[in-house]
Amino acid sequence: MDADLHTHTTASDGTLTPDKQVQLARDIGLMAIGITDHDSLNGITEALAAGERYGVEVVPGVELSTDCQGREVHILGYYPEREAPELTGMLDKLREARRSRGKLIVDKLVSLGLQIELERVWEIAGAGAIGRPHIAQALEEKGYVRSIKEAFERYIGSGAPAYVPRFKLSPEDAITLVTRARGIPVLAHPGLVDLDALIPDWVKAGLKGIEVFHTDHNQAQETRYARLAENLGLLVTGGSDYHGPGRKTTVGLGDRRVPMDNVTRLKQVKQELNCRY
Ligand code: AMP
Ligand code: FE
Ligand code: FE
Ligand code: ZN
Repeated sequence: MDADLHTHTTASDGTLTPDKQVQLARDIGLMAIGITDHDSLNGITEALAAGERYGVEVVPGVELSTDCQGREVHILGYYPEREAPELTGMLDKLREARRSRGKLIVDKLVSLGLQIELERVWEIAGAGAIGRPHIAQALEEKGYVRSIKEAFERYIGSGAPAYVPRFKLSPEDAITLVTRARGIPVLAHPGLVDLDALIPDWVKAGLKGIEVFHTDHNQAQETRYARLAENLGLLVTGGSDYHGPGRKTTVGLGDRRVPMDNVTRLKQVKQELNCRY
């Protein structure tokens, strides 16, 4: 009776189509699956249709990368309206920025003497919001690295020679965008962010939930964030951050879950938001 509320598909840097991912969710016995692609809602229509077909509840969402004091803060937005022009306009802009940055990274790799073709990177990304995992795959294919992880460490990760930062919103901007699209802003994997002192400020900006359960959280972090959620009156979410086979190969769909009660609460808040407007 569990849900995995954090997954990526081919609409961003995952390797499974939304349809295949929802099918897999059914096969492993998930009751609900969150589709939270980076900077894109383009997988949602297909995922919802697959949800109907396979009898799995699909929780539509998005994951926005923001920058705060030089650190990456990821904001998940659940149940945003897909017609909200401010949000869709910003998602278009963020994906365009990903394309320009992808080109800059490839330029840097080429100037380092690596034979990486931009065309191949576009091909790997397909219709998905382009991200470094796509470039990492191109590096792996050419034999420059043996794994995606090595590609980040040696070439494209923060501090590596072909690293290029990307246009990012502030956490407050992302929270406001999701809120104005009548979605529910949730702080993703706070254990990776390590800016706990700022969480109350984000709550003032409209943050409604916190991802307590995540494959990169240890037991102590889960306990800490569960307590924080209770103290601040925040919704509790969780998920695997699955990217499909071939990306983070150690993480499987459903490796981190939350009870369906948490999905029910999420939907109650969505209902309240709709009533208030
Ligand atoms: P980007 O969105 O282009 O900045 O790339 C970030 C994405 O790369 C994350 O969402 C993960 O999917 C992936 N990623 C980040 N660090 C690593 C790593 N060390 N190994 C493998 N994948 C990573
Ligand atoms: Fe990713
Ligand atoms: Fe994330
Ligand atoms: Zn994610």
